[in-house]
Amino acid sequence: MGNHMFDAIRAAASRREAPFIVTTEGQTWTYGKLLDFTAGLAQRLVDLGVSPGDRVAVQVEKSPEALMLYVACLRAGAIYLPLNTGYTLAELDYFIGDAEPRLVVATPKARAGIAQLAERHGGRVETLDETGGGSLLEGLTVGTDFSDAERGPDDLAAILYTSGTTGRSKGAMLSHDNLLSNARTLIDYWQFSAADRLIHALPIFHTHGLFVASNVTMLSGASMDFLGKFEPARIMALMDTATCLMGVPTFYTRLLQESALTEEKTAGMRLFISGSAPLLADTHRAFSERTGKAILERYGMTETNMNTSNPYEGKRIAGTVGHPLPGVALRICDPESGAVLGQGEIGMIEVKGPNVFKGYWRMPEKTASEFRDDGFFITGDLGKIDDEGYVHIVGRGKDLVISGGYNVYPKEIETEIDQIAGVVESAVIGVPHPDFGEGVTAIVVRSADAAVSESDIMSALTGRLARYKQPKSVHFVADLPRNTMGKVQKNVLRQTYGHIYE
Ligand code: ATP
Ligand code: MG
Repeated sequence: MGNHMFDAIRAAASRREAPFIVTTEGQTWTYGKLLDFTAGLAQRLVDLGVSPGDRVAVQVEKSPEALMLYVACLRAGAIYLPLNTGYTLAELDYFIGDAEPRLVVATPKARAGIAQLAERHGGRVETLDETGGGSLLEGLTVGTDFSDAERGPDDLAAILYTSGTTGRSKGAMLSHDNLLSNARTLIDYWQFSAADRLIHALPIFHTHGLFVASNVTMLSGASMDFLGKFEPARIMALMDTATCLMGVPTFYTRLLQESALTEEKTAGMRLFISGSAPLLADTHRAFSERTGKAILERYGMTETNMNTSNPYEGKRIAGTVGHPLPGVALRICDPESGAVLGQGEIGMIEVKGPNVFKGYWRMPEKTASEFRDDGFFITGDLGKIDDEGYVHIVGRGKDLVISGGYNVYPKEIETEIDQIAGVVESAVIGVPHPDFGEGVTAIVVRSADAAVSESDIMSALTGRLARYKQPKSVHFVADLPRNTMGKVQKNVLRQTYGHIYE
């Protein structure tokens, strides 16, 4: 049977001397080193009592060694379970209790607290710091090969917890083939090859930095500049030698503040990709004007890997997430009845394909309720397909506002507000309202020198939006609350403004 995902990595790593990772410190990890190191590390996992099917939970800073741990888990047949580095001990209690990992890898300073949790749930703790120090790698033997665990396409490779934007994070069970099939599709669609050099500045505990960025690089034999965190100046410098960047929308708004961002500077970059949160149409346009390059926006989620992408050749349309990827079936349905809706109608986005996960870890009822009988997964995102086949996301089902009995899609209102002079961006939420059920409420960020007021916004929207869609009130803030992936936390806003109409 072999090892479905790792066999593919091994095949892609045939040029042993080719670089895979180059760190900010100038350290190079070749593909040969990847093979040798993960053989030693997989053996270490076995020695620590990790068997195929066991979970290995990992909460460490980003480093090449941390990425090697993911690959070593594949080889040992373990289920890799990365955790957001921001989670507190109280939050970890839920994840560790839920996943019951055999092994938890933590930073040295978190060891004591995490050890108590892990032991309570039958696991042990080893440590790894951002320089490769810590107990996990101590005295590691590299250079001898490892007999990889047998793993088929449907065996689990990872459990990734969702970002928790709409509620408590859920563990998405991802199989070897969920990961491999999606990476192969993306390599093909985005034309990745061994000649590519990706600027990797995303965290590696999330699907974007871990699977999209790292798997695509590794399985095309390409290389990546591995940054511990997003540093605009460093990214600007790397553009001289790199070919691609994958980022969340905030990367691009930040890069636009760099005066050095020009057509000349980006001449060698063949592709800028954005995802994880909606890219403002304005950012897309501003970036094109400055660099002559259209950002390619794509749409995915923890549960499904990537579902849609703007085309590599052909029009990349601002404000859309492009077409369903090859092999992915996507339809728009009535959220209640599940009836398939016609082209142009707004409804629930549902997807099916080899990219779609095996269910939520230890939540059989939740899993059952999120799938239709014919196998389509209900994404929770509302959208439509336009007459050129481009998918538009209009917001999350949970963010839909129902005011006076009418559905209000936040994206439509936000798009109108964002076009008003002096507005940087906005978030529209529904807030409990005694007359309307929910009152449409706009939270707006102004540009530094702008004096645009609530009444300016109200009057700009009159005549552009039906009365029931117009905000009942507008509130100005310096920044919208965002999580690590750049997602606007509307639940935080709903809490902050929850009582304004009482
Ligand atoms: P939770 O499910 O725990 O509430 P989450 O949905 O934010 O958190 P992720 O799996 O990280 O967790 O994010 C997937 C979601 O991100 C999608 O369902 C979608 O709402 C949003 N998303 C991803 N890419 C895009 C994009 N290009 N445009 C708009 N939204 C996007
Ligand atoms: Mg989600």
